[in-house]
Amino acid sequence: MMEAKYVYGFNEGNKDMKSLLGGKGANLAEMTKIGLPVPPGFTISTSACNDYYDNSELIRDEIIKEIENYLKSLEENLNKKLGCSKNPLLLSVRSGAVFSMPGMMDTILNLGLNDSSVLALANATQNERFAYDSYRRFIQMFSDVAMGIPKYKFENVLDDAKESKGYKIDTDLNSEDLKEIVTKYKAIYKKEIKQDFPQEPKDQLMLAIEAVFKSWNNPRAAVYRKLNDIPHNLGTAVNIQSMVFGNMGESSGTGVAFTRNPSTGENKLFGEFLINAQGEDVVAGIRTPQDISSLKNVMPKAYDEFVKITSILENHYKDMQDIEFTIEREQLYILQTRNGKRTTTAAINIAVDLVNDNIIDEKEAIMRIEPKQLDQLLHPSFESKALKNATVIAKGLPASPGAGSGKVYFNAQDVVEAKGRGEEAILVRLETSPEDIEGMVCAQGILTARGGMTSHAAVVARGMGKCCVAGCSQIKVDEYNKEIRSDDFVIKEGEYISLDGSSGCVYIGSVKKTDVALTGSFEKLMNWVDKYKDIIVRSNADNPRDAAMAIKFGAQGIGLCRTEHMFFDEDRIPAVREMILSNTLEQRLVALEKLLPMQREDFVAMFKVMDGKPVNIRLLDPPLHEFLPHDDESINHLAKVMGLQVSEIKRRIIDLDEFNPMLGHRGCRLAITFPEIYEMQAKAIIQGAIEASKEGIKVTPEIMIPLVGEVKELKVIKDMIKETVDNIIAAEGVNIPYTIGTMIEIPRACLSADEIAQEADFFSFGTNDLTQMTFGYSRDDAGKFLGEYVNKELLEKDPFEVLDQKGVGKLVKMGVQLGRSSKPNIKLGICGEHGGEPSSIEFFYNLGLNYVSCSPFRVPIARLAAAQAFIKNPR
Ligand code: PEP
Ligand code: MG
Repeated sequence: MMEAKYVYGFNEGNKDMKSLLGGKGANLAEMTKIGLPVPPGFTISTSACNDYYDNSELIRDEIIKEIENYLKSLEENLNKKLGCSKNPLLLSVRSGAVFSMPGMMDTILNLGLNDSSVLALANATQNERFAYDSYRRFIQMFSDVAMGIPKYKFENVLDDAKESKGYKIDTDLNSEDLKEIVTKYKAIYKKEIKQDFPQEPKDQLMLAIEAVFKSWNNPRAAVYRKLNDIPHNLGTAVNIQSMVFGNMGESSGTGVAFTRNPSTGENKLFGEFLINAQGEDVVAGIRTPQDISSLKNVMPKAYDEFVKITSILENHYKDMQDIEFTIEREQLYILQTRNGKRTTTAAINIAVDLVNDNIIDEKEAIMRIEPKQLDQLLHPSFESKALKNATVIAKGLPASPGAGSGKVYFNAQDVVEAKGRGEEAILVRLETSPEDIEGMVCAQGILTARGGMTSHAAVVARGMGKCCVAGCSQIKVDEYNKEIRSDDFVIKEGEYISLDGSSGCVYIGSVKKTDVALTGSFEKLMNWVDKYKDIIVRSNADNPRDAAMAIKFGAQGIGLCRTEHMFFDEDRIPAVREMILSNTLEQRLVALEKLLPMQREDFVAMFKVMDGKPVNIRLLDPPLHEFLPHDDESINHLAKVMGLQVSEIKRRIIDLDEFNPMLGHRGCRLAITFPEIYEMQAKAIIQGAIEASKEGIKVTPEIMIPLVGEVKELKVIKDMIKETVDNIIAAEGVNIPYTIGTMIEIPRACLSADEIAQEADFFSFGTNDLTQMTFGYSRDDAGKFLGEYVNKELLEKDPFEVLDQKGVGKLVKMGVQLGRSSKPNIKLGICGEHGGEPSSIEFFYNLGLNYVSCSPFRVPIARLAAAQAFIKNPR
């Protein structure tokens, strides 16, 4: 039997080995393979991490031995030795999961330094300052990242040292200062850990490796995985790489660059670098980095080589790359490459540009865009007129585009709580860190005083599609007193500001937002999407305004017009209540007479907006409790209108009160007891259709009956509607094609769909009610406990958001099969919330439904998801 292998040299892997080597490790191996200047090293695989957890958090001897063997070859290869007092090898230790995870332990640099190797390093490089700078960095990173000692304890020492000497920046510290700092750092370590700072490099290494393994399960990483649907059992790899030094003086430096602009997608190198620094200085935003373009002047040779490599990498990976590099005494090294995180705008522009340049094809471009990401584009930005009148209080870096307004809060927890109270909040921080993730998710926008375009706040906000202004140094963020200050103003916790993540401007107060305009690359991409998608996308819309919006977003018809929503209007609701509370048929007919013209006009307007596209109108389905009056004023008013005593109205309200309104007298049940309601609606639909068609508009109304569970319910109502409609058509002498169908939203309807299909021209699956009734979870109350179900992993997802394919999906499948078995050409659609959710859309496509229908803002998402479903599984 072959022995298990847990460690891989960079020369043994490639980019397709991500699940074993993690993203970072696989790409380091790939870059080594294609001959790029990567400092040598090896990767401890994710299987070693999983082995560690399988063995009660123990790194087994067999694995330790393998690590030691690889370390030995690295030492031989470089002719250096870890911890050696002559020619010491220093290492970087970096975590590297399959998917990049900012919540995890990231990097420890300069591992291998101790009190004697620091002298050797100083000697070998003839640079004592550099050696002690590296040592103090190592102690600080090891203590923070591997041992959990708070970073600020070290930063305070550094700040005090600079202040007492009157220095401005870190590079002003000389080697004597740094020696003192090292002594103080070691004292902090001893005080916190109750042990001396480990001097044995192999101990340092094993502790660091173990810290990376442990970081896989730290709470931040767990939250991040949950947010991003990353499975918890993947484990992380650990990359051990020989150090190269960006802090060796003025001919050294380090930086991060994207091959294209990650905010806009512009095909131009985008990034920043710092001279005489190590990697973490760029990300931490301690010194302000320079724009990558000025590297050309500082180190022209290294710059030219870097530009060449960026284009090699982009062509090799066929995607925009996010690259980390270090220059050690004019010599360029590449430390990492990965597909760069980007805004949706950038993602679309890049994908379309890559197709135009024949690097990828249309299908690949479609697959590159995460449907949910489109949400970012579909949200409003600030209205230009409102913006002109708004007061700019500061300007920072435009780190992540979009617009956000809200009350300011100064820590993540306060933002989470504010969101819980229904407030809109802006997270304001000196700089963000992975602990802030949840607050960032809940915030409308993020403002930081420090950090550049590649700082944590900027990178994470862009990934989330959240607007962010970073590095806003014109303001002072006082996290302790919870206020933002400048010379001219103070903004306290709970006061409003607005952020424009595209310009970097910060405004006082809440600025009005506007709708989005979708053009250019978006349009091009969506044209490709429509070429490939093979399921119709309709929209749910209850009024002409939403219908117009749906068309703008590419809807091919209305899949659900909820007529009860047409009555929510203040001036209509009294007539609806009158209808519901009527005691006699006569009373009800009076109320219905009032409603008829309103409904007719509604439908005419809808038909006009839809201009020939199909319109599915669902007859009244009011959960009665949503419509009954509760306050005295409404009750008194109603009594007057209906000519009844207040007490009579109150009695009627009590009569109509239901224990389970969602399972009560709603939907078609209402029409079984009061057929005149649906009769009025059918009249209004067909009269509206006739009126619209007289104006030259082609109309094919689809009349939909809700909440059918037994075919006889449908038959009775359908016959009544048909008679009403046919009489009107005959009397008018016109020809209006129409269909009558039903919602399938009760489990029994799925089970008896073959019978129901006999009486229906179409089915539309109502997966909201179907989920409610399949699980037995009330739609109105499930929010109270479903979060906990998901947290405790009893359910993977909230089934009202993402279709439960195992249970509810099985019923839908049964409904489809039985329906088609008795009526092969029956039209099938879905209009529950799941019609706009990508994984559910894929499921519906694979079931062979004719259309999905969702809210207008989700139509582009649904179109893209539909195209992706086709590309994955063409039919
Ligand atoms: C459904 O139940 O899925 C549906 C679309 O109808 P409503 O949400 O109006 O009950
Ligand atoms: Mg329903």
